[in-house]
Amino acid sequence: MMKSSVLIIEDDDDSRQAIAKLFARADWKVFEAADGDSGVELALRNRPEVILCDLLMPKSNGFQVCRTIRQQLQPTKIIVVSGRDYAVDRASALEAGADEFLLKPITWEVLRESIDRLLIPQRPRAMTSPEELGSVPPRIKLWGVRGSLPVPGPATVRYGGNTSCVEVRADGEIIVLDAGTGIRALGLALEKELGPQTIKLTLLITHTHWDHIQGLPFFSPAYNSKNLIQILGYEGARAGLGAILAGQMETPFFPVSLRQLPSHLAIEELKEMEFHIGTVKVQGKFANHPGICAGYRLFTSAGSIAYMPDNEPYETLKVQLAAQNGIDGKKARNFAGAERAKMVEFLRDCEVAILDAQYTDEEYKAHVGWGHSSLSSVVGLALDANVKRLLLFHHDPSHDDDMIDRMLEQARSLVAKSRKAMVIEGAREGVEILLELPAQRQLR
Ligand SMILES: [Zn+2]
Ligand SMILES: [Zn+2]
Repeated sequence: MMKSSVLIIEDDDDSRQAIAKLFARADWKVFEAADGDSGVELALRNRPEVILCDLLMPKSNGFQVCRTIRQQLQPTKIIVVSGRDYAVDRASALEAGADEFLLKPITWEVLRESIDRLLIPQRPRAMTSPEELGSVPPRIKLWGVRGSLPVPGPATVRYGGNTSCVEVRADGEIIVLDAGTGIRALGLALEKELGPQTIKLTLLITHTHWDHIQGLPFFSPAYNSKNLIQILGYEGARAGLGAILAGQMETPFFPVSLRQLPSHLAIEELKEMEFHIGTVKVQGKFANHPGICAGYRLFTSAGSIAYMPDNEPYETLKVQLAAQNGIDGKKARNFAGAERAKMVEFLRDCEVAILDAQYTDEEYKAHVGWGHSSLSSVVGLALDANVKRLLLFHHDPSHDDDMIDRMLEQARSLVAKSRKAMVIEGAREGVEILLELPAQRQLR
């Protein structure tokens, strides 16, 4: 069997040699560098599985080393070892590309535990067998599926009462869609799962209506300095994303301000409609909803997941309002048709689409212009887009479990009439959906 290899970049000779001895004793192949620049050179030449890197070194410092190596060697795991426990150092190291931040003096137990954690999920990927590849399929977990307002209680026990929050694990990333009240339980679950490890995640906000952000002040990972939370979304209609998120935490609404949160929290306004989170390509699309509201499509290695929690079909809205606004009916229909075609294109061939299905067709008639969909319009949209699996989402707070069951039944009968094979479900809090990797599909 080939030996695992490690590169130790550390200017203090005694501590470098001491760590090298520990690895050699465990039968690792060890490379050593006494400054940043020669560390980078050795890393690129020998491509070790693990790099241990000090922060304060001559020539290139540890942050620079992390950045350079990360750009050129993606699979290598970088552990930064520092004598100082500043939250900002930890966050900067992780941002520079480190996978782990450990404090000196370091013991073999701590090192081994951290290396095991970093390398185990990688090993199946390094092998080529499809069974191995399939062992970590992307997955979706629903933490909040309700629209407008949380409605806990006996009538919503089965589908759940928390507002919008969906977790996607794919290709090494934790991506959270919206921060409704469901994000509270997600935060607790992440802390339980990851323990002392850094929680590194990206939170994508569709829009800042309260049901999509009101859980953020209760997201416990934001209260721990070891965590790295990136929040992305488009600028709002009246203020920037950061200002709006901070606004809901200002006195007298909340006792802790956003700026006081100890985690490394980076809020970034999106400028592009296409961007990447790690290797996951993300496409944004603006919804037909009051203010600025977007939906996202995540392109994972197991297919696409679309999330469009708040959206009103243009076709009914435009045509109905055209007469009122003195717009020619035909022009209105053409405009609506073109907008709908863009939405179909956005959703085209998705594995899973999580879409606004707030109203029954009957209820929608009384809510035209409120920014939400009717049941038949969302089913029609998903069918036209050849979606494989549709989750009816953003349940109206006045709909109890039985009502959602009935809507689901109606939706299924619409699908049956279409003779298409789309799977359709009511989004249910706590449910986890595993996606199949292409390798698994081929095995069938
Ligand atoms: Zn909403
Ligand atoms: Zn909204």
